[in-house]
Amino acid sequence: MELLIGKTLNELREWALKHNLERYRADQIYQWVYKKWEDNPERFTNISKELRKWLKENAKFHTLEKIERVEAPDSVKYLFKTEDGHLVETVLIREKDHWTLCVSTQIGCNVGCKFCATARDGLIRNLTAAEIVDQLLWVQKDIRDLDKPWNKVRNIVFMGMGEPLANFNNLKKAVEIFVDQKGVDISKRRLTISSSGILYQLRKMAQDPLLRNVNLAISLNAPNQKIREEIMPITKTNPFDELWDLLVNYPLPEGRKITLEYVLIKDINDQREHAEELARLIKPHRKRFKVNLIPYNPSPILPYERPPEGRIYEFQKVLLDNAIITTIRWSKGQDVFGACGQLRAKREIPLLNRGEFVKN
Ligand code: SAH
Ligand code: SF4
Repeated sequence: MELLIGKTLNELREWALKHNLERYRADQIYQWVYKKWEDNPERFTNISKELRKWLKENAKFHTLEKIERVEAPDSVKYLFKTEDGHLVETVLIREKDHWTLCVSTQIGCNVGCKFCATARDGLIRNLTAAEIVDQLLWVQKDIRDLDKPWNKVRNIVFMGMGEPLANFNNLKKAVEIFVDQKGVDISKRRLTISSSGILYQLRKMAQDPLLRNVNLAISLNAPNQKIREEIMPITKTNPFDELWDLLVNYPLPEGRKITLEYVLIKDINDQREHAEELARLIKPHRKRFKVNLIPYNPSPILPYERPPEGRIYEFQKVLLDNAIITTIRWSKGQDVFGACGQLRAKREIPLLNRGEFVKN
């Protein structure tokens, strides 16, 4: 069985060639998969019966297995299993007039942020391009029969499990597939890569002709070296000032802003003086940044807490008073899922204890 998803149109054409199929057969399959979200080749009605039968026997259109779907008022969380038995989570978020899909790029993460549940097991492995793309395919299959505009994901954020830039090539291929106008056709302006800010990876993104045109969000999470180093130890080797310098000089496409994500953690980075320090930093460059405050989602396995609501609004007010665009991301469906990595964390603990979960 050959896996036909996670291939670009050119790769699918090469595959067709190899199997003595006409080139346009690849284009037809590509459209069934990435435009009509069809995963059963028996329904590829514009191709011959024989070829449909052959595809049914020889080709696969998913690599992930969908094992759970949890619905909350403003979101749906999907839990998938990879072929080697790992869990991957994806969240579909209902915005005012569109869907945003939050996809994962790694199983675990080795960046090691102290407040993050995904960091706990370290990095298990990168997701393949097919595994990244399949998250969208399953979700699209789920929503494709809804009324417009709810039948298609409009925005994709790489903010699920993992550090996207640490999985550069597979991320890039997934982005290539997502933006291809012959297929998925999501605008580059509607894709966002969220990164913890590892300098050499950011430089690589800035130089990449495709990825530099996708939105960048940086998990800043602190106004200075000292606090950032405490909660994000990578700051020791990726100093705050150098990161800031890189962001101030990042080659932004016309009219775009970098999002600064700031997880507000009680008594760690949520004081008025922290907001003021952050405002001083951003103010001279406020046209290039916007701030997204994320109230911390507590995890049963971590010691951190969410600040009281009043303090969150106060923090926002300091930034707004400095004319800095600042939103608060009240996480949706918090009863169903807390933060990135948490549903998986809950499920994988018992699996680990039974020794069924193999780390490589
Ligand atoms: N690795 C990337 C993308 C995944 S994390 C990154 O760090 O940017 C996505 C966002 O979730 C980051 O901004 C991170 O700071 C935030 N986050 C992690 N754990 C959280 C928690 N428990 N509560 C709220 N936000 C959290
Ligand atoms: Fe990795 Fe992002 Fe979690 Fe940090 S916040 S450990 S970079 S997933």
